[in-house]
Amino acid sequence: MGNIRNIVVLTGAGISAESGIQTFRASDGLWEDHRIEDVATPEAYQRDPDMVHRFYDARRAAVQTKSPNAAHEALAYLEGAWPGEFLLVTQNVDDLHERAGSKQLIHMHGELAQAWCTLCDQRHPWATPLIDYPPCPSCASPYSLRPDIVWFGEMPYRMDEIYDALARCDLFVSIGTSGNVYPAAGFVREARSHGARTLELNMEPSEGSAWFTESRQGPATQLVPQWVHQILGF
Ligand code: NAD
Ligand code: ZN
Repeated sequence: MGNIRNIVVLTGAGISAESGIQTFRASDGLWEDHRIEDVATPEAYQRDPDMVHRFYDARRAAVQTKSPNAAHEALAYLEGAWPGEFLLVTQNVDDLHERAGSKQLIHMHGELAQAWCTLCDQRHPWATPLIDYPPCPSCASPYSLRPDIVWFGEMPYRMDEIYDALARCDLFVSIGTSGNVYPAAGFVREARSHGARTLELNMEPSEGSAWFTESRQGPATQLVPQWVHQILGF
């Protein structure tokens, strides 16, 4: 591992599975018994905002009862100990990475613990339900706060920073993601095209498995701490 300096890690729902948060492809493309088109698109929100709020309010409340696991913790430890650049990009909307202590973190699909005012464009930390249509803390408008979640058909956050980091990285590691959701599913090819080594840690081979230099199968709470020990030379 001597020639590795910059690392980019991508995580998906699989890293939070052992914390008790359901993944989504694993349950036949349903997310907590809901079809994606009914709860995770701008059209769904226009059609039935109450239903969308109820769904994300329930997700937000559930995550508050869960805790980071050994995989989240190992990544936070690696970030603190790693001498080169380290960036963690997550597709997850839970906050288990930050609660484990990760700092160099991009939530490319947004966060449950944040509300976004579509009128004044401010974002606010949010721990309570949105279904009651509370006023925006900045502009006082009712009916303008939505979950700060990137829905299907919307543009993920901070893509410029992510592609810059992928271009500079020597190692790209993908953890607990099915490789179905773009643009994240294309990161492995982007990193490879700039000469990076690529490693996948997942319960099963993902859609994009063939693009990885190496693929290891198993639960994240075992594979991630093992890999972190290995790369730190323990
Ligand atoms: P996904 O559900 O499509 O895929 C999860 C992958 O993790 C699968 O390949 C599965 O085999 C693997 N996996 C399951 N348990 C694992 C374990 N214990 N250890 C290692 N791997 C395991 O998830 P995705 O690729 O992240 O795409 C889902 C989309 O849905 C994302 O956009 C995300 O924002 C959203 N989502 C988020 C959460 C969350 O925030 N925790 C939960 C569900 C869905
Ligand atoms: Zn506002």
